[in-house]
Amino acid sequence: MDKKDISLVRPENIKEDTQDVALRPRTLKEFLGQKGMKENLNIFITAAKERGDSLDHVFLIGPAGLGKTTMAQIIANEMGSGFVQTTAPALEKPKDLVGFLTNLKKGDVFFIDEIHSLKPAIEELLYIAMEDYGIDWVVGQGPMARTIRIAIKPFTLVGATTKAGVVSGPLINRFGITCRFSFYEQEDLKAIVHRSAGLLNIKIEDDAACLLAKSSRGTPRVVNQLLKRMRDFAQVSYGSKEPKGSPSITMDVVRTGLERLEIDELGLEKQDREILKIIIERYKGGPVGAENLAITIGESVETLEDYYEPYLIQAGLLQRTPRGRVVTSFTYGHLGITPNAFNSSENIEKNPNDISQGILFQ
Ligand code: ADP
Repeated sequence: MDKKDISLVRPENIKEDTQDVALRPRTLKEFLGQKGMKENLNIFITAAKERGDSLDHVFLIGPAGLGKTTMAQIIANEMGSGFVQTTAPALEKPKDLVGFLTNLKKGDVFFIDEIHSLKPAIEELLYIAMEDYGIDWVVGQGPMARTIRIAIKPFTLVGATTKAGVVSGPLINRFGITCRFSFYEQEDLKAIVHRSAGLLNIKIEDDAACLLAKSSRGTPRVVNQLLKRMRDFAQVSYGSKEPKGSPSITMDVVRTGLERLEIDELGLEKQDREILKIIIERYKGGPVGAENLAITIGESVETLEDYYEPYLIQAGLLQRTPRGRVVTSFTYGHLGITPNAFNSSENIEKNPNDISQGILFQ
């Protein structure tokens, strides 16, 4: 089995169940964090509603599990519109897209997830639909072939991607509103833990919620998942039940639970720590090229770059430099490894910016 498949904290791999659906915020008010984005969206939605227009097309960018699908549904709810959802890989032929577009009602929000993987022919169709609310459809064959314009109802396209870098310029330009999601602040994640715990009828102490928030890679989907696992530990291992059977999650439950799952207080799993240790032990802290590193850890370059690196970089444990990957002074501290003689503090003082020593100081 691929290591990714058994990971608990890879937001891409967490399957949604009915409880997760219940946890999804339905309004901008219920959506915690991402303050600036929310305030702007609120203005755009209010203005469009006041004018009686459909909202301009919205482009949502950000890593998995940060709330892009949730936000698309919220936009529909706030606009009082219908919500129609698909993913780009499911749109195999132009007629698949035409099927969706011709069935849209006025003002509907049409959500396309993973929009970076649209096929070129489908993307072309979408341009006209977004701009002119029409579809150019070829009827007949050979010399008899001609293009007819089919009118569709004004709608709002919400496109989401984890890879904004590979979305074509013409598509990006057709979105009037762009929202970039960032990893969540601990305070916001703690508020999400308390909200979710309330909805699931779980009791959790404030410091336990704080530790969960700290260990969940800045990602709401991960924090919800960890909360449910802690409920299991509280219920079975500790037998701590409230009179009505709702388990109580204490600091002790979270500490032991995370230890059992081998997740540390930064949300790193064993394989994340392995990657950092390999850079330190085999490559003296770096720089090491992505290809070499990927071979050493037994993963593809794509997995290394898409699954492991974004959070390690965001957490300040890894840096991408023109010469390769480099750990930081924080990495040594986090892993409890003393920089060896080659990376001694004496050298560091002399050359604080010299990455050849394998340590970067921010
Ligand atoms: P994405 O589409 O970016 O992968 P989702 O919208 O599916 O992420 O969000 C994952 C889960 O995280 C949702 O089920 C929701 O319960 C929770 N969630 C996401 N954003 C928030 C938020 N801002 N506040 C509360 N819960 C959130």
